[in-house]
Amino acid sequence: MGGRGSSYFNRSGSMRIKVSDTYDQDKPTNNRTRIVEKLTKRNVQVMASTDKIPDEILTPNLKQLDRIMSRFRQYSDYAEVENLKVRTETFSNPNVKACFRCQIDTFKRPEIIFNKSYQRDTAREVETQVQKQIEIGYWTKSDRQNLLVHTMTHEMGHYVQRVLTEQIAKQRGEVDIRARNPLQYDDDIANEMRTKIRSICKNTFHTTSTTSIYGTSDPYEFFAETFSEMLTCDNPSDTAKSLEIYLKGEK
Ligand SMILES: [Zn+2]
Repeated sequence: MGGRGSSYFNRSGSMRIKVSDTYDQDKPTNNRTRIVEKLTKRNVQVMASTDKIPDEILTPNLKQLDRIMSRFRQYSDYAEVENLKVRTETFSNPNVKACFRCQIDTFKRPEIIFNKSYQRDTAREVETQVQKQIEIGYWTKSDRQNLLVHTMTHEMGHYVQRVLTEQIAKQRGEVDIRARNPLQYDDDIANEMRTKIRSICKNTFHTTSTTSIYGTSDPYEFFAETFSEMLTCDNPSDTAKSLEIYLKGEK
């Protein structure tokens, strides 16, 4: 990880991984497919470092990203403000397939980063790996046709939670409080969100909220895991439905 790497916020939960930083050398891809152009209009830039990811992996993930942005638009007008970049980097752990990263205090340079190891994968291999994690309960479920986009959708959950946190700080006039101690503020909001989602689950569906093993690591992983399930399942759990209710409502 380069010098700037350390100023990045890299939530990788219990899996501590190092991610290289070639942000400054990357440029927008010349591969201007329809989905790349569509995302550009949403202020999402697909970068040249993704060029070597097989199309059968990259294209479904970009389409899912577009669907997420379109869905998120119903809840917030912030989603398309930040210029989100889709990139690749080298991860110290080849099994961690993606991460979300941005500057910790300013929310500048948000990135969805795919592991370069995707370049050597087939779609089938990725699906099998994801299915395995779901079967052992480590990750929340995804419908079969969405296994390929499960991980990226989880990472977008981190992005969305971060966008919402910025929004909440502004709405509540707490931008200065947050600036003094962003980590603490983000922790507090993430905990508050988890509490609210759990209570929606209890009050609306009369069930106790559930999550994956990974989702129990911290309130950020809880959010991202639930988000992934919400957007990759036709019949998500009550917890995932509760997240949607939360997203549509007052914060
Ligand atoms: Zn995560």
